[in-house]
Amino acid sequence: MSAPKVVVFAPGDEDSYKKFEEIGCELVLGKASWSDPTGNTTGELASMALEADALIGTSIKGGKIDRSVLSASEHLRIVAKYSVGVDEIDVDAATDLGIIVTHAPTEANWGGVVETTMTQMLTILKKVRQRDYALKNTADWRTPELTATHIGSREDGYAGLTIGIIGLGRIGGRFAQMLAPWRVRVLAYDPYQPIDRFIHANVQRVDMDTLLKESDVVSLHVVLNKETYHMMSDREFGLMKPTAVFLNTSRGPAVDEAALIRALQDKTIAAAGLDVFEIEPLPMDSPLREMDDRVLLSAHVAAHNYGAGIGPGIEWATEDVLKALKGQLPEHIFNKEVIPRWRERFEGRSAV
Ligand code: NAD
Repeated sequence: MSAPKVVVFAPGDEDSYKKFEEIGCELVLGKASWSDPTGNTTGELASMALEADALIGTSIKGGKIDRSVLSASEHLRIVAKYSVGVDEIDVDAATDLGIIVTHAPTEANWGGVVETTMTQMLTILKKVRQRDYALKNTADWRTPELTATHIGSREDGYAGLTIGIIGLGRIGGRFAQMLAPWRVRVLAYDPYQPIDRFIHANVQRVDMDTLLKESDVVSLHVVLNKETYHMMSDREFGLMKPTAVFLNTSRGPAVDEAALIRALQDKTIAAAGLDVFEIEPLPMDSPLREMDDRVLLSAHVAAHNYGAGIGPGIEWATEDVLKALKGQLPEHIFNKEVIPRWRERFEGRSAV
């Protein structure tokens, strides 16, 4: 039996993948890394995947793991992601070909995103950057334009803000929970979650247009797929209040970025907090880099925190690949419908 081949298309660190070498695997490393996710082209990925048994790595923004890559090897058992989101993988093709796709929605990952979303919201509404800048760079002690927004409702009759959450999954649901003590009105839109999820999250289920029209803050937490691609565009920004803040820590292409830029430039909406972009890394000539405090930007790092980051996800993905190579069903399967076919092809057949 020849050595099993593991392709690490986007290493997340310098050590974890050495475990595969230790058990006799041939390793092929891709160009992408956590700090530069551009990586290999689809054609290069297809060449790297020839005769591969497993593909593993974090998100890539250059090539796609499409059908040509997935069908480059008849032995391919698994594509394992260190992170949440499998949008660079053609999951339908993987299922069709009998290949398992795993992902790693660790609490370190989704919890980190929720904390960043909350931070974005507070930074913008409480004018954290402007107040700090004014004190360090001007002689003014207090100025009226540095008045911030009171977020929660109050006993004196102040109604507080309305926060709209689009996508009530792991991140959207946890964000709703974290908002509860703030005594704000929380609306949510998610056509794929049952009503009890809205009740448990203590949010009001509404349609998308109502959410956009009534919310002071709109926060996007959907998966990226054909349906959610550009789900926020000119029409949707046009429905929002001119004072509203838009937050996106989900996936860049869920937003028509040109429409968002227009909405900010025309003052259709007031501000945006963005961790993700249509093209990553964000091009140097993007108008978003030129905007003032209307935008708060970070480089797709919402989940990257000391003691967390993608480390736990690397462990999950590594374990999933080791199991698959041994002919055992891995744990964190994204395309569960593939399981019967995969069992027929690989269960009990070790490649190591
Ligand atoms: P999840 O799968 O738990 O939740 C996504 C939710 O979106 C689901 O409830 C689903 O029903 C809903 N949804 C699907 N289509 C929808 C539509 N058309 N309209 C409204 N809702 C729709 O995913 P999650 O773990 O909560 O992750 C949410 C997003 O955050 C994903 O896009 C993920 O890739 C992204 N993410 C970003 C980072 C980062 O570093 N910025 C890290 C982790 C995850």
